[in-house]
Amino acid sequence: METVTRYAEAEYAPGSVGDVFRLIREGVATSRPALARRTGLAPSTVSLRVDALTGMGLVVERGSEDSIGGRRARRLSVSADSGVVATADVGANHARIALSDMTGQLLVVEESPLDTASGPIASVEWLWEHFQTALDSVDKKTGDLRGIAIGLPAPIEHPSSKVILPSFMPSWHNADLPRLFRSHTELPILIENDANLVALAENAVPDNGRPSHLLAVKLGTRIGCGIISAGRLHRGAAGAAGEISHISVPGTATLSCSCPEENCLESVASGGALVARLRNAGYSVAGTADVVELGRAGDPAAVEALREAGAHIGSVLSSIVNFFSPHVVVLGGAMSASAPLVAALRAELFRKCLPLIANDLSVRTSINTADAGVKGATHLILEELLAPARIEHLVRSVESQGNGPAGAGK
Ligand SMILES: [Zn+2]
Repeated sequence: METVTRYAEAEYAPGSVGDVFRLIREGVATSRPALARRTGLAPSTVSLRVDALTGMGLVVERGSEDSIGGRRARRLSVSADSGVVATADVGANHARIALSDMTGQLLVVEESPLDTASGPIASVEWLWEHFQTALDSVDKKTGDLRGIAIGLPAPIEHPSSKVILPSFMPSWHNADLPRLFRSHTELPILIENDANLVALAENAVPDNGRPSHLLAVKLGTRIGCGIISAGRLHRGAAGAAGEISHISVPGTATLSCSCPEENCLESVASGGALVARLRNAGYSVAGTADVVELGRAGDPAAVEALREAGAHIGSVLSSIVNFFSPHVVVLGGAMSASAPLVAALRAELFRKCLPLIANDLSVRTSINTADAGVKGATHLILEELLAPARIEHLVRSVESQGNGPAGAGK
C-alpha cells in the first residue's frame, strides 16, 4: 500500500526554514528584522532562511514597511504565482471546479453536470479533463499545477483518502482517487468529505479571535456534517466523524439505504429523499434544486415535504448540539436555500436545545454556499502544500541536490 504523508500534520522545529515560512504566511512576522525578533535567531541565520525561500520562489520580498529602528525593512509575503492548485466539489449530479493561486485567491470557478453514477474511474478522467480546460482558460499549464483537492458527498477514510460505503454511490465503495489520478500526475491529491470542506471554509473566516467550535451541515442530495473543534477539523479516529446521515428518525423513508436503519435521516429528509417523495406524488423533479424551487413558489406538497425534512434535521441536530456545544451551526448545500426547511430546522433545533447552549448559538447559512466546497478544498490543499514540515523537506532536498529553483509541488 502506498504510504500517505500528510505534512500538514507533521512536526516542525521552531526557527527552522519551515517555521520562518509559516511566520511570513500567517502575517506574524513579515520582514527580516521582525523574523529575527520573533524567532530569536541571528539576523544572518534569518537571512539564510529567507534567501532559501525567495530563491525557490516561495516567498517574495518587496516594497517597504515601517520599522522601529528607522531603517526601512522590505516586506516578505508568500508568492501568489509560484503555482496553482485545482479543486473540485463533487455532488451527485454536478461538480464545481476551481483553480486558485498559492495565496488561496480563486482564479476561475465553473460548474458542470457530472453523473457520479458513471463511477470513480470515469469521474477521475472527467475531472482531469476539466482541470486542463480550467488551466487553459487562465493561461496556465499542467506544469503550473501544485496539488489537487476534491470533496465528495461520502465518508472518506483518513488518512488513506479512500471512499467508504457512500449511501447513494455504491460503485464508489473503496475507490482510491489519488491512485486513479496517478496515470496523470504524481502531485499531492487530497480527498475530503464535502461537509468537512464547508466547515474548513467557514473556519477560515476570522471570528473575533475566538477559537471556533462549529458544525457545518451540508444539505444536498445527501446529508453530511463537518466538525470544527477549537479551530481544528475533527475527523475522529477513522475519518467518519460527523456522519449524522444514518441516525434513525420517526419519518417515512422514500429511499432505501445501505445501512441497517429503516428510517435513517438521509432516507427520510435528504434532498435525494425529497426528490423521491415528490416523484412518488407525480411531480417531475430532476434534483434537489427543483424541490427547493417548488417550495419557493409555494407548492403545498413541496413546502410540506421541506418543512418535515427541516424538523427531522433540526431534531437530530439538537442532540448533536447539546452534546458538542458549538457556537455556530452553518447550513450549506442546495437545501440550505429553502426558507421553509431552514425555518422548521431552526424552530426544532432551538426548541430542543439546552438554554445554556441556545443563548450563544447562531444558526445561519454558509457565507458563500456555492463556493464553500471549493474554498474549503483550496484551504485544505494549501495547508498541505505550504505546511512548515513540507517546506523544510523541499528546501533540504533542493539544498542536498545543490540546485534550484523549484516550485512548491511534489
Ligand atoms: Zn442509512
